[in-house]
Amino acid sequence: MASFRYFTGPMDCGKSTLALQIDHTHTAGGRRGRLFTSRDRAGEAIISSRLGLRRPAVEVHPAFSFWGYVVDQLSAGARIDYVVCDETQFYTPAQVDDLARLVDELDVDVFAVGILTDFQTHLFPGSRRLVELCDSMEVLQVEALCWCGRRATHNARTVDGLMVVEGDQVVVGDIEQLHDLEPGGEEPAPVAQAAVVAYEVLCRRHHRARLTRSAAQAGLAETLPFGTTEGWEGQQ
Ligand SMILES: [Zn+2]
Repeated sequence: MASFRYFTGPMDCGKSTLALQIDHTHTAGGRRGRLFTSRDRAGEAIISSRLGLRRPAVEVHPAFSFWGYVVDQLSAGARIDYVVCDETQFYTPAQVDDLARLVDELDVDVFAVGILTDFQTHLFPGSRRLVELCDSMEVLQVEALCWCGRRATHNARTVDGLMVVEGDQVVVGDIEQLHDLEPGGEEPAPVAQAAVVAYEVLCRRHHRARLTRSAAQAGLAETLPFGTTEGWEGQQ
């Protein structure tokens, strides 16, 4: 019987590596699957891991239909035993509903991998739907670390090196031209064109204190009223 499994964790905890590993394991076992991703760091239609592995995948745009895609493939005589879905935080709730339907009505195993919460610590809409619908949810054991050495559990966004807590939920970092990628939005609007957007994982304490690694190194910590520098001094 097929199942709907959700694997989650913050950035930098090996999620894409896991997605590729799941696909490899099932392919080696003689099963046939399809890979999906959305806005991977390597570009469209590729799943890439920080360890250097990469595989072609189907790009999931806001209007993409998992149900339509799989039914078309099956109708054309293809075999699909499972799907591996990476970067699921960018999927719409309707697409997640579609994934559950694949499990229940077509007996296709679904492995969903993605981030749970955004840079403001709120659930992504697609991630919320995954929590609501999946058969099992697993928090990845490969743990990312904050600069202080604690477990990194929260994603921080920086603009030109400074942590921000306001802005659109989805802004992809590390690209030349930055755009508002709001699902279903109209013309992409340039967002702070010259700004460099990046992400960093922090422990909850340092996310709340807005203290990134570079801010801590710059000595800003000393000017803040909370006891946020403990742990960091030991790292020098
Ligand atoms: Zn920390």
